[in-house]
Amino acid sequence: MSTMVKQYDAIKYKTPTGNKLSCKGWIQEAALRMLLNNLDPEVAERPADLIVYGGRGKAARNFEALDNIIAALKVLENDESLLIQSGKPVGILKTHKDAPRVLISNSQLVPNWANWKHFDELEKKGLVMYGQMTAGSWIYIGSQGIVQGTYETYAALADKHYHGTLRGTLNVTAGLGGMGGAQPLAITMNEGVALIAEVEEWRIDKRMETKYLDEKHTSIDEAINAAVHYRREGEAKSIGVLCNAVHLLDRLIQRDIIPDTLSDQTSAHDPLIGYIPHTLTNEQANVLREQNPEQYLLRSYESMHLHVQLMLQLMDKGAITFDYGNNIRARAQEYEIQNPHAKTQIPNYKPGRSFDFPGFVPAYIRPLFCEGKGPFRWAALSGDPNDIAVTDEVIMNMFPENKGMLRWMKMAKEKIAFQGLPARICWLG
Ligand code: NAD
Repeated sequence: MSTMVKQYDAIKYKTPTGNKLSCKGWIQEAALRMLLNNLDPEVAERPADLIVYGGRGKAARNFEALDNIIAALKVLENDESLLIQSGKPVGILKTHKDAPRVLISNSQLVPNWANWKHFDELEKKGLVMYGQMTAGSWIYIGSQGIVQGTYETYAALADKHYHGTLRGTLNVTAGLGGMGGAQPLAITMNEGVALIAEVEEWRIDKRMETKYLDEKHTSIDEAINAAVHYRREGEAKSIGVLCNAVHLLDRLIQRDIIPDTLSDQTSAHDPLIGYIPHTLTNEQANVLREQNPEQYLLRSYESMHLHVQLMLQLMDKGAITFDYGNNIRARAQEYEIQNPHAKTQIPNYKPGRSFDFPGFVPAYIRPLFCEGKGPFRWAALSGDPNDIAVTDEVIMNMFPENKGMLRWMKMAKEKIAFQGLPARICWLG
């Protein structure tokens, strides 16, 4: 155990590239290279903590487990399978050459115990890890995956409502965080105008630096004016406005400017850490969260309830409205259950409507799944970007009728830099 590395060592954990094997077959080699690629400092948010993305989504439970996984993959035969339980290798079984080489299961807790409290206790004891979707399964490829999923959602919306393009539409949403930061690029790639509220200035600056966002505004009215101008001109532009989502929606209603589409990617799933109430500044929020978390939660719920009411009001006026998987509808519903007599700030608003707008999966993604369409991603284990250029060509030649995919490929080549191993994601049928 004395030789065990307890911290991320960029040389020791460097992803092998080229055509020389360090394992006994290419399938094991692929698993090894993808695991190490997930943790590459260019790819992972916090390799020192083995955290890849999404809060605390990890690739391995701890450094000892990581070393053991690497060692196991190197000796794994072509007719064996390695079992991984929440980031720790727990066994090698003799199987056959067509069986999976690695079987992974992460963070499985059955319903009664499926809560953060129980998870945190197990994590403290070193018995579990949070795998997110692509961190613990070793297939994270950087921000490209998130941009593509969001692009596909808006493309499906455009197909359903706007003859395949968002040109000349105003798309309002909020949150420019880890995943939400993909919204502006995904919307402009679909040729629409994005108007996005974000309370933290550094998030807006970060999206400007990486060219995911075109403009930053600090005045709500000026941001709205610019967005309306671009909508009229049919120009694909994205605008980040430094304000609370509630204030942006409120102002749109006052000015009777109705977005064509409306969603939200604030971290409403986490009312204490992830959502900033509209009645607090960021500084006040940080203080209250520390000093009086119960009071913070009250404010947060009140604000999310109002937020959903404003979304419903804009929906009633014609905005195509959907939830982006952040649970904001459930938060508004919980608020109404706990406060049955609470007054609302919206005239004629009736309670019980929080779920009147759909989630993005049933509305736009599930219909694609029903047709057998879904995401495919691949990485060049060689480390050579030319290999991806070749597969890009092959895909584009094979599916010339898939206009959305062709547009994605063209834009992705222009706008998305590779992180770690060169990789590509696209949706195919
Ligand atoms: P994040 O925590 O990194 O970012 C959230 C952002 O919202 C932060 O920048 C924060 O400053 C901002 N914010 C919080 N309250 C605000 C308010 N009232 N007004 C304006 N801005 C506010 O989270 P993320 O990774 O971007 O994910 C966002 C949410 O979307 C999460 O709840 C996530 O579960 C959900 N989601 C996203 C996807 C996807 O594919 N993009 C899929 C499913 C769920």
